[in-house]
Amino acid sequence: ASTWANVKMGPPDPILGVTEAFKADTNPKKMNLGVGAYRDDAGKPYVLSCVRKAEQIMANKHLDKEYLGITGLPEFTKAAARLAYGEESSVLDEKRVAITQSISGTGALRIGGEFLNRWYPHAKRIYLPTPSWGNHTPIFRDSGLEVHGYRYFDKSTNGLDIEGLLADLKAAPERSIILLHACAHNPTGVDPTPEQWKAIHEAIDGKGHYAFFDMAYQGFASGDPQKDAFALRHFASEGSIAGEGRLCLAQSFAKNIGLYGERVGTFSIVSADAEEAKRVESQLKILVRPMYSNPPMNGARIVSTVLNTPELHAEWRGEVKLMADRIIAMRAALQNHLVDDFNSKLNWEHITSQIGMFCYTGLKPEEVDRLKSEFAVYLTRDGRISIAGISSGNVKYLAEAMHNVTK
Ligand code: PMP
Repeated sequence: ASTWANVKMGPPDPILGVTEAFKADTNPKKMNLGVGAYRDDAGKPYVLSCVRKAEQIMANKHLDKEYLGITGLPEFTKAAARLAYGEESSVLDEKRVAITQSISGTGALRIGGEFLNRWYPHAKRIYLPTPSWGNHTPIFRDSGLEVHGYRYFDKSTNGLDIEGLLADLKAAPERSIILLHACAHNPTGVDPTPEQWKAIHEAIDGKGHYAFFDMAYQGFASGDPQKDAFALRHFASEGSIAGEGRLCLAQSFAKNIGLYGERVGTFSIVSADAEEAKRVESQLKILVRPMYSNPPMNGARIVSTVLNTPELHAEWRGEVKLMADRIIAMRAALQNHLVDDFNSKLNWEHITSQIGMFCYTGLKPEEVDRLKSEFAVYLTRDGRISIAGISSGNVKYLAEAMHNVTK
């Protein structure tokens, strides 16, 4: 018998499975609303102009391809940290942040999970919002953490269950690890308001919890990277969280600079002082070295060139706003068609109150199945649609399809 005769067939990835079914469909009107990658209004992948220019600058320099250090390209990680924590950040000014380049957001989350598993001195329990990005559970489980949930989404309002959330944070054992989506919560598109963030911060601070931020959409939610960093910066500057080293961040440039396949991100830990940050950094290196030695350089060079070249940085700010604005416009158009053109009697307010790449429509699994079989509209069975997959050419068709399966 073969060595691997005992290996069981695993289930396909729920999101990538949607894309496969979409590809096989021959209906010319078919729509793929599964995958979370930005598309322009013609439905095409979009490479930012600031990225094309950065690549040109890089090509003209005839750079070498020597290994980066274990923690990556320093001019990249410095600029990335400033973008996240802010120009005025005291934790950065005081050199209290240990940071390493990562294999995009996923790799950052995994480094964070591994670091906490190895060094967190309290019970290794992490609480994820219910629901959360589907990969969070396996990432943290495979890192050796015990995964739990806290209430987040309220099905009856398609909004935030702030009372349930705060109650669960307060009920969790002291010094638990709390995962927070910094902005543009995936999959629900529901974000706390600044006032709600302050209450969440107080609940976390009060229980001595550890705050683990996942920031995969900075700039993509509102169009303004400063505004989208509000929660992270509030946690880094208020109360005793930062001072007691109870804050870390997984940062991705997949969406906001459109560098999906380049795999560029960072993982950073806020420490109590500069000396502690040095010790933490030394252990991040010891963790990374046996996994992949050092990160790939191309994406880091692109981001570094964009963020550190004032004209390109300004151009990026315009382009990220353009992407966010197109998403916001598609939300409004979808809602208007449902309500005004098809006279849907259901409440579709949440389509525009939610934010970022995704909308949690409230469609039921059977309705999702009908969208697929009758209209060739593809999405995950939880009713999540990627707004980025909608364009002015097909938004009315989508509204008609959604109305038909819900009326
Ligand atoms: N966190 C969240 C919430 C996400 O939605 C994603 C992307 N789908 C990621 C992290 C990581 O993505 P990547 O590894 O491509 O940066």
